[in-house]
Amino acid sequence: MKVVVCTKQTPSTTAVITVDDSGQVSWDDPGGKPNVVNPWDEFAIEEGIRLKEKHGATDVVALTVGDEASKEALKTGLAMGCTEAVLVSDDVFAGSDSLGTARVLAAAINKVGDVQIALFGKSAIDGDTGQTAVQTARQLGWTPLTFVSAIKEIGDGQITVERLLDEGKQNVTAPLPAVVSVVKEINEPRYPSFMGIRKANRANIPAWTAADLELNGDAGAAASKVDWSHIYAIPPRQGSVEIIEAESVAEQASILADKLFEEKVI
Ligand SMILES: Cc1cc2nc3c(=O)[nH]c(=O)nc-3n(C[C@H](O)[C@H](O)[C@H](O)COP(=O)(O)OP(=O)(O)OC[C@H]3O[C@@H](n4cnc5c(N)ncnc54)[C@H](O)[C@@H]3O)c2cc1C
Repeated sequence: MKVVVCTKQTPSTTAVITVDDSGQVSWDDPGGKPNVVNPWDEFAIEEGIRLKEKHGATDVVALTVGDEASKEALKTGLAMGCTEAVLVSDDVFAGSDSLGTARVLAAAINKVGDVQIALFGKSAIDGDTGQTAVQTARQLGWTPLTFVSAIKEIGDGQITVERLLDEGKQNVTAPLPAVVSVVKEINEPRYPSFMGIRKANRANIPAWTAADLELNGDAGAAASKVDWSHIYAIPPRQGSVEIIEAESVAEQASILADKLFEEKVI
């Protein structure tokens, strides 16, 4: 059984993000690591590795569509235990919306060949649309299984999963191949091992282009239905602070209550 884990490099959760007047987004991290594997994808990578350990998956391929720098996300996947990694990178993909990205991912999954499960995190912490997994499933013609909190059983060409809903859990069985997007309740991601990190640093990661995937105009700015032309920083909230001075806490509370009453807060 072959498994693909779709993963994306995102700004780190502690990065400070700025948007300039022209809408250009940049970020830096005081901790010195501005980019990380999308945190939700760590659970997908871990689940892919567990499919190898527990369900006999032969190949666990980490896959990303991005620039050369996003190879770092793939190296994290390899260091954790993925068996291979593939970067899909081409200037023509710049400005893709999530549907364009899904078309590229679906073409890459087809090129890997004979894939039974494509794993995703529930969303990416930057774009945060949560659409890429279902759109990829649609492109592939596979069943999307979202918010998966456990893979219960795989066999006889079927997969049974537990889905985490707002008001409970749901067991769903679907035919393979399937797209599975996971939530953090599914597992506890492992740390990359020292040997894994060394192996990842030596790994030869192939880079596929639009031509390799025979994608002509299916992705990129011109194919995007969603246009990110107006990106701006939210203006800082205006506010002021007043310290209530009084002889006692009771008096302070009484003054505060009067002020809240005047402002029609209470
Ligand atoms: C330079 C640039 C320009 C952009 N321009 C536009 C634009 O004009 N219009 C627009 O709508 N969007 C634009 N985007 C955003 C881009 O479409 C989304 O980042 C992308 O489609 C993924 O959507 P998401 O981040 O919401 O991921 P989600 O759907 O929230 O992620 C769900 C899962 O899919 C995986 N996934 C997402 N993207 C990838 C990927 N590339 N490779 C592998 N796995 C992935 C995630 O890791 C996660 O596991 C732009 C992005 C960049 C970097």
